[in-house]
Amino acid sequence: MKLKTALLSAITTLSLFSTPALAKDLTIGVSIDDLRLERWQKDRDIFVKKAESLGAKVFVQSANGDATTQISQIENMINKNIDVLVIIPFNGDVLSNIISEAKQEGIKVLAYDRLINNADLDFYVSFDNEKVGELQAKSIIEQKPTGNYFLMGGSPVDNNAKLFRKGQMNMLQPHIDSGKIKVVGDQWVDSWLAEKALQIMENALTANKNNIDAVVASNDATAGGAIQALSAQGLSGKVAISGQDADLAAIKRIIAGTQTMTVYKPITKLADKAAEIAVQLGKGETPESNAKLDNGSKDVPSYLLEPIAVTKENVDATIIKDGFHTKEAIEK
Ligand code: BGC
Repeated sequence: MKLKTALLSAITTLSLFSTPALAKDLTIGVSIDDLRLERWQKDRDIFVKKAESLGAKVFVQSANGDATTQISQIENMINKNIDVLVIIPFNGDVLSNIISEAKQEGIKVLAYDRLINNADLDFYVSFDNEKVGELQAKSIIEQKPTGNYFLMGGSPVDNNAKLFRKGQMNMLQPHIDSGKIKVVGDQWVDSWLAEKALQIMENALTANKNNIDAVVASNDATAGGAIQALSAQGLSGKVAISGQDADLAAIKRIIAGTQTMTVYKPITKLADKAAEIAVQLGKGETPESNAKLDNGSKDVPSYLLEPIAVTKENVDATIIKDGFHTKEAIEK
């Protein structure tokens, strides 16, 4: 009897040690599109801290906005025998092959913030990106219910940029149909770069003889570029313009009155959640989901968080309250 108990306990102990989570440390590879933008540095720092606190080892690489670099960095991570791959894609349409390679090696794949199309993803974690677009257009319509609108989309290869536009159009279309709003231009900004947005805005102003009342810009980096062009024509503060990310510079512009709004996405919530999900996937567990998104090859179990519109009126109650930026930093 005693022997049986001892044997049983030995078997239990053995099987405990043979579960993947306990057999070895979990290793997570994080492939980031572009660390040159302010927000992704925050995402990285919070994600790494949380994942490490959960016992994982984390490798991070940035492709600096280059699809080929991103693929070879992922290849590299696969060769390092990682357990989980977390990807913020530069181009959400070109990663199917490398992801199937990862899957063949038994690696779990989590798309972070941006969906990856036609790929065998295990999970997607992000904000409700269509809602982001709705919040942007809604604030601008409130500010300028009539007039000439310029639409400045994000990177044409970022799935989010398309969702932002979809949300923006949900709000704009009825006003376009009723003739109150006229869209006088529509362009997308490669790699979301501010200097490209600046050029696009300069050309749009010239083409429309400065007759633009509102700009629906999809993030703060591009809004910053556009505002520089508006400012050169004495128009900043007169033209309503949206943004996204609650970048420090954007919050300063909102206070100064040159940018109408931004969309605040609590990055801590996203990055913490993603780290938890990555660890769960690595342990073979099924993370809780609250949505399913069709990426062309499957309904990807997803977890989407709520974005928040920020104007001059609620900077304190949102950004400052959450400690996303300090009051001192904003006033500096
Ligand atoms: C993100 C935005 C960001 C943009 C540029 C989008 O996919 O959702 O928050 O501003 O990429 O990096």
